[in-house]
Amino acid sequence: MRPLILVAGGAGYIGSHTVLTLQEQGFAVVVLDDLSTGHRDAVGAVPLLRVDLLDRAALNAAFAAHRFDAVVHFAARAYVGESVQNPALYYRNNVVGTLNLLEEMEGAGVKRLVFSSTCATYGQPSEIPILESCPQVPLSPYGHTKLACEFAMRDFAAGHGLATVALRYFNAAGADPEGRVGEDHRPEAHLIPLALGAAAGTREPLAIFGNDYPTPDGTCIRDYVHVTDLADAHVLALRSMLDGATGFRAFNLGNERGTSVAEIVRLCGKVTGRPVPHRMAPRRAGDPPLLVGSSTAIVRELGWRPRYSDPETIVATAWAWHRKHPHGYSD
Ligand code: UDP
Repeated sequence: MRPLILVAGGAGYIGSHTVLTLQEQGFAVVVLDDLSTGHRDAVGAVPLLRVDLLDRAALNAAFAAHRFDAVVHFAARAYVGESVQNPALYYRNNVVGTLNLLEEMEGAGVKRLVFSSTCATYGQPSEIPILESCPQVPLSPYGHTKLACEFAMRDFAAGHGLATVALRYFNAAGADPEGRVGEDHRPEAHLIPLALGAAAGTREPLAIFGNDYPTPDGTCIRDYVHVTDLADAHVLALRSMLDGATGFRAFNLGNERGTSVAEIVRLCGKVTGRPVPHRMAPRRAGDPPLLVGSSTAIVRELGWRPRYSDPETIVATAWAWHRKHPHGYSD
């Protein structure tokens, strides 16, 4: 029997890529998603339960209907600015939603969880590259809610014997190298799709948020990680627990390599063969100048090997998706 994995938020960007990787590696998958930000087309033929994590009865029915071996949990709101404007939405969806999931898992005897966390839990880092031991002092309600979920996972691990892994992503980017799924946020706030859309003429010229940072070219530096490499990490984390790993563990998913906004814009021009129309704009509130993550721990402990994370490959796969879907998914 193939292990059966529930992917909460499997219709979203990183979730849909992880569903593909899970299937390729022999897992059976059920997606649970309320489709509030995800896309039905991103799920393809995988069974989809259209359930909101805040709907306890529907969540309970999902766990009653299937014997899941593990859960991979992506279902959350993920806009920093929106979280500042509407913290209740973030605490309800991200914290209460995760608590509901943890309680239903506990009730159904499902003992393994991979959780989608974020480098935003570190806030302004005290060291570069950022290690897992770096103090977690988030700068936004979004970061607070993800850290609160990590605390809940630690406590469920200690109190209920849950095996759980939090994966703290740096900048997720790119698209499935085979073009089956890609990135479609509404509204889109991320650099690479906005730059590619500007190059293609389907979006406004790109606003570069700040060129007066203390970095070599004055623009912010981030650690971009290919979404398929992120998906691989989820499957490695899952396998480690199926092989018997217990307790709470957290791993960064960065590449120990920073790329500036200006370099990304240059690469988008190179890959598309069109200059990216852009303008300089003021800094965006809350953007640290430099975020680069250490991946030493996950490389050493889980054998993670990023395959697609050089910046040009990231941009090329994102561009291939954009060309096929200039306006994103149809739903
Ligand atoms: N950025 C930008 N213009 C945009 C969107 C993003 O200059 O329209 C910059 C942003 O300030 C940051 C980097 O690009 O330095 C990556 O931003 P993104 O929103 O993609 O990811 P984040 O780092 O916020 O998770």
